[in-house]
Amino acid sequence: MAKYIFVTGGVTSSLGKGIIAASLAKLLQSRGLKVTIQKFDPYINVDPGTLNPYEHGECYVTDDGAETDLDLGHYERFLNTPTSQANNVTTGRIYQTVINKEREGAYLGKTVQVVPHITDEIKRRMLQLGTTGDYDIVITEIGGTVGDIESLPFIEAVRQIQWELPEEDCLVVHLTLIPYLKAAKELKTKPTQHSVRMLSQEGVHPDIIVCRTEHPLSSDLKRKIALFCNVKPNAVIESADANSIYEVPLKMLEEGLDIIALKQLQLNGYAAPDLALWRGFLAKLQHPKTKVKIGLIGKYLELQDAYKSILEAFVHAGAENQCKVQVVNVHSEYINHNNVAEKLKDLDGLLVAPGFGSRGVEGKIIAVKYARENGLPFFGICLGMQMAVIEYARNVLGWPNANSTEMETSTPYPVIDLMEAQKQIKNKGGTMRLGSYPCEILEHSLAAGIYASTSITERHRHRWEFNNKYLADFEKAGMIASGKNPQTELVEIVEIPSHPFFIGVQYHPELKSTVERPHPLFVGFIKAAKEYAAQKEGIDSSVLSKD
Ligand code: GLN
Repeated sequence: MAKYIFVTGGVTSSLGKGIIAASLAKLLQSRGLKVTIQKFDPYINVDPGTLNPYEHGECYVTDDGAETDLDLGHYERFLNTPTSQANNVTTGRIYQTVINKEREGAYLGKTVQVVPHITDEIKRRMLQLGTTGDYDIVITEIGGTVGDIESLPFIEAVRQIQWELPEEDCLVVHLTLIPYLKAAKELKTKPTQHSVRMLSQEGVHPDIIVCRTEHPLSSDLKRKIALFCNVKPNAVIESADANSIYEVPLKMLEEGLDIIALKQLQLNGYAAPDLALWRGFLAKLQHPKTKVKIGLIGKYLELQDAYKSILEAFVHAGAENQCKVQVVNVHSEYINHNNVAEKLKDLDGLLVAPGFGSRGVEGKIIAVKYARENGLPFFGICLGMQMAVIEYARNVLGWPNANSTEMETSTPYPVIDLMEAQKQIKNKGGTMRLGSYPCEILEHSLAAGIYASTSITERHRHRWEFNNKYLADFEKAGMIASGKNPQTELVEIVEIPSHPFFIGVQYHPELKSTVERPHPLFVGFIKAAKEYAAQKEGIDSSVLSKD
């Protein structure tokens, strides 16, 4: 049987519960424990797959095809182990299960109620991963903020689990904010006291309080928080702002968060933390030798969370290359033929992002053309790959109206078309081609070199595909399909061998990049951008030396 740690949040949202949960998990894992993290979200959508990225940031996809909260991405990036459908549960999914059971007659004769039926289903799912035998510790992050109406059933479930399990099998960590009042030059503990009181009123008393703060907490202040929130002084943990989320585990180690957790859970005889790989990564991250500018061409750029995994994959790949990756946001809606050179001329690489719908696609196509014609390293992901295919059809094959049927159903050249399996589908939720599929890579291709393998698996989230009817035309004209699904022949990777680095992938490599295993495609792309930058520099300096 596993032990359970619950992470709740108070005072305000966006305090970084996911990062604290992942950091604690990393420390426990580094001491030899088997740890997983799950997230319970209080909203009614069955999963975040139907949410606009502006609403909820990126939708993270697991190997088993679950569309999940972006915090699962942090869990995987920190722990380097895959999550699954079971690791993300929403109120919608809980109710769906209970209502389906009611229709089947599972509660015949009974009134179905929030307590006990909804809370029982929450508890069943909270405890589920711990009964598989795969984990010593299951960390559960409760989405939302304590005091929200919609998170009440989750807090009630935590209360019941705490009551049912032996004391040493359960631990509650509460994350709060200690605001700094500039006028008074003081850190204020009252909001934390109120949020702990609110949690206590709901029946749950925290064992550890993690305090997000912009200024260090004095030991007096920690004592005060401890006294008024009724925890031991060493159970008040400071979580000061960090330069990088990847520094947080080490800060939590310094604060002793893992030790306090282990003591409370009566886990004795644990090993010293082995964080050699983690520290190695941080050292490279903090001491880059070069710098590249990468253009991120997308349309959800107002919200950085919309491209979370891509941005993190750049951090991992940058460290691997000992290179600082400066990501320049270029909004695809504002790119046109007249301004493209001006907007992209300083870049060392171009990534065209995934996306849905027609807004901004013409700008993406113009950006791809610029990269293709100017030898600028190009990396297209999902919609980005589809845009590269359309650009090639229009400007190299000479099919001016070529398009994806997602954007224009009546295009004479549907080079990107709806997958056969998608044509009958009416429901939008959970029906894309989702999760991990194999891909066979052509020997001696750019992709084969990058992966150092010809057989890979990657995660997907799309409905449209490369239209194989046109493949021979593309290959004759110089764009090849270097990766295909072995069963369906679905094109997974396209390349232009005559270009220094031009690759588009139908899948989402960013979802599998972790601190300890940076994704080879991102590593290869940054390497190409570095070479491009060095070459540019060489050319520039030779021009300068002539003067
Ligand atoms: N909209 C495209 C499709 O569904 C691309 C999806 C994506 O970029 N994730 O195929």
